[in-house]
Order: sequence, then structure tokens, then C-alpha cells
Amino acid sequence: MSNLDVLYPVMEHFYTIQGEGYYTGHAAYFVRLGGCNVGCVWCDVKESWDIDAHPKISVREIIDKVTKSGTKICVITGGEPAMHDLNPLIDELKSINIRSHIETSGAYPLLGNPDWICLSPKKFKFPIPETLAIADEFKPIVFHHSDILWAESFIQSLSSNCKLYLQTEWSKSDLNLPLIIDYVKSNPQWKISLQTHKYLNIP
Ligand code: SF4
Repeated sequence: MSNLDVLYPVMEHFYTIQGEGYYTGHAAYFVRLGGCNVGCVWCDVKESWDIDAHPKISVREIIDKVTKSGTKICVITGGEPAMHDLNPLIDELKSINIRSHIETSGAYPLLGNPDWICLSPKKFKFPIPETLAIADEFKPIVFHHSDILWAESFIQSLSSNCKLYLQTEWSKSDLNLPLIIDYVKSNPQWKISLQTHKYLNIP
């Protein structure tokens, strides 16, 4: 079977601005794959969890939408995208010189070689050492203040040039942002990631 004929369950896909982390502010085409069994209690895309609840879309169709958008970056998110073999999609993106960025919990081995790996670890299913070691960006979500120290416990498993970001869970912003600001001032290897798309009111 050709890469272009491979099907993925796609919950939604849209062209927008990356709101979070290292690539904040960059135009990017988002492809949200269905399927996740990580089970975060505060998950804001629980509709993505059921792998069978989403239409199957071919790589050909995804590539067509991505190309027509004019983007230089395709963000493959979820759900947990690493539950799928991402090789066919990533290889086709590479063949047309579109960067592939993955947003993952790191709980599964990554099948595919993306240009950027953003790993957001989850307490509900820990990241595996293999994915921690190759992450380009480490972006824990702070729900409870103890999550900051939990995040620190992974530092030795990351590469020395991995970018470090702390991002508050949205509903806890008022409580957590002052803590994160103080923490980053005392630990400047970390930076703050804000969900700027929510302030901009874009998807
Ligand atoms: S890993 Fe992401 S999609 Fe899965 S439950 Fe957690 S926040 Fe939701």
C-alpha cells in the first residue's frame, strides 16, 4: 500500500497559529488524531479518546489540505498521536518539505521521525525513557503546584538541549501563574508557555 493510501482517524484539522511552547506564533496546520488512553482528568479534548469515533482520512487528503493552506509546519496532535504508526504521514510531509511537529505525552514509542517532538508528560501514564531522550521540547502542564517538582524529576532523562517550558492548566491559571513566575525566576533554565491561542480566541 502506498503511504498516500494509509488512513488515520482524524477528529479535526485546521490551519491556525501555534499558541504554545517553542513555536508560539508560527502559522501551522493542525491534525488532531483520534485515540488516547492516557486518561488525564483535566483533558480538554476528551472527545478525542475513542479511536473509532472519528472519520478515517487518507494521507493523500491530509497532504492536500496541508499543501493548500500554504503552511510550512504540520502539527500532529491528539489524542495521543504516538498510538499510531506516523511514518506514512511524516514521510509524505517530508517529501514536500513541510515540517512535522508531534505533540505527545511520551507514553508510547514514537513510530516516525518528526522534525520536532514536544513532550508533555502526564501523571496518568508516565513517559517512557526512549521518548524523553529524543524530545526537543518538554512542556509539563501544571495542575497542582507539586507538578513542578514532578516535572523536575525527568530532567536527567532529557537531552541537554531540550527546551523546558512550564504551562499552567487553563482553569488553574490564577492560582498557578504566580507560582510558575516565581519558579522560572529562580530556575531560569525553564520558560513559561502560555496558551496564547486562548487569549487570541483562535483554535
Ligand atoms: S494525553 Fe492529551 S488527549 Fe490524552 S487524556 Fe491527556 S490531555 Fe487528553
